[in-house]
Amino acid sequence: MQGPRPFLVHGQWKQSERTARVTNPFNGQVLAEVAQAGEADIEQAIASTADAAAAMAALASHARYNVLQQIAALLYRRRDEFAATITAEAGKPIADAKREVGRAVQTFTVAAEEARRIPGDAVPLDWTPNTDGYLGILRRFPIGPILGITPFNFPLNLVAHKVAPALAAGNPILIKPAPQTPLTALLLGEVALEAGLPPGGLNIVPCDNALAERLVVDPRFKMLSFTGSAAVGWMLKAKSGKKKVTLELGGNAGVIVEPDADLDLAAQRCATGGFGYAGQTCISVQRIFAHHTIADLFTTKLLMQVARLKAGDPTDDATVVGPLIDQTAAQRVESWIGEAVAQGARVLLGGKRMGSVVEATVLANVKPDMKVSCQEVFGPVVTVTPYRQLTEAIEALNQSDYGLQAGVFTQDINRIFHAFRRLEVGAVLANEIPTFRADHMPYGGVKDSGLGREGVPSAIEEMTEPKLLVLNLK
Ligand code: NAD
Repeated sequence: MQGPRPFLVHGQWKQSERTARVTNPFNGQVLAEVAQAGEADIEQAIASTADAAAAMAALASHARYNVLQQIAALLYRRRDEFAATITAEAGKPIADAKREVGRAVQTFTVAAEEARRIPGDAVPLDWTPNTDGYLGILRRFPIGPILGITPFNFPLNLVAHKVAPALAAGNPILIKPAPQTPLTALLLGEVALEAGLPPGGLNIVPCDNALAERLVVDPRFKMLSFTGSAAVGWMLKAKSGKKKVTLELGGNAGVIVEPDADLDLAAQRCATGGFGYAGQTCISVQRIFAHHTIADLFTTKLLMQVARLKAGDPTDDATVVGPLIDQTAAQRVESWIGEAVAQGARVLLGGKRMGSVVEATVLANVKPDMKVSCQEVFGPVVTVTPYRQLTEAIEALNQSDYGLQAGVFTQDINRIFHAFRRLEVGAVLANEIPTFRADHMPYGGVKDSGLGREGVPSAIEEMTEPKLLVLNLK
């Protein structure tokens, strides 16, 4: 193993006396020691981010375009190294890790394009005789230094979803990566430096949560962009002072399967959406509601699909259900399954744990107040519940503190619109699972699942401040 991995402040790699260990979730192997920012480093990183605001705001759109394109190209060139790092530190199956790198390349490419077309508007002001002769011009300006806090489950693309729009909009950003997966974020720092970003344009600072909270309360940041659990996100928002806050939080996504649905499609997509990366995605399929007339047939098809999914070693190209992020997470999921069974749930498939790997598990006979129903499992567990009326299924799906995305499988456009109007979520996917995400689409949740929208164009909007110029043309 090399020496401790340094962190990035103002274009310099810095060491520290404090280090934290990063381990492979599958085999427990120590991957690296990572230098942890101390108080003085944090102060320097905040000052650096604040100082970079003017240089970043002064970059013309073609310069921002070039840096972002360059980052995308360098990411692509080093794609194998990035994918291997994601698999090693996050335990993400290598096929998914490769997809994540491909998506991050897209995220930076879209951000490069969007950097050149940040919208403005002419605002006619001649609506009344006394404002006749005036014209407004609305432009969007960079919001200023941004703090990004990111989770472990997409160590590259969810960092990209903060860094790319921040840079596209002309803002500097400080990233506090997840403690389990800082190595991928630090690799991205290398790429950003090589792409010629001004010093302080991107600082990457692993640190403990107490120091991360110092970042959150610091008024030099104009915005906090947080992705992670609902408990931490809402707690940090309460401490964030006057800064703008966007929150991308957890969920227990639901799917409705109507009697006229393509059941093969629904079963195949639900297997992928429920068990890919062992369910550790905020929009993983967790609760399936199937019409009572097709519930048995759908469940049989689902079980056949799920039984085929390979579990275990994430470096194997064929693995779909890899390990959970650590043994504690796997034990928690195991205990939630056990609790549900003790309260009457039936295990149709799986249910067992081997180290940090939990088998793909399908449960029936669940009740709404079981943890596997009402909380975010963040593991490879899916429940199937029959219903009689679409309105009943919508009500059951909405019976959740969360509201990120939902899926509806039906051939009937009226039912799709009915569900679209009534489901309390940020997006409804018709004939698709809620796990679907394109990196430029508006993305985010309602209720406990979040605040504001990500997806490159939406994030650019959040990361810019509108300002109006009023011209007296009389
Ligand atoms: P987490 O909330 O435990 O941690 C997220 C980040 O917050 C990490 O960097 C962590 O170190 C930091 N953090 C934790 N406590 C903090 C504190 N007191 N002060 C400052 N920072 C603190 O989440 P996680 O376990 O890394 O990720 C899983 C969660 O993220 C799930 O709930 C999942 O649904 C959610 N998630 C949401 C989205 C989305 O886009 N909506 C995407 C991915 C993950």
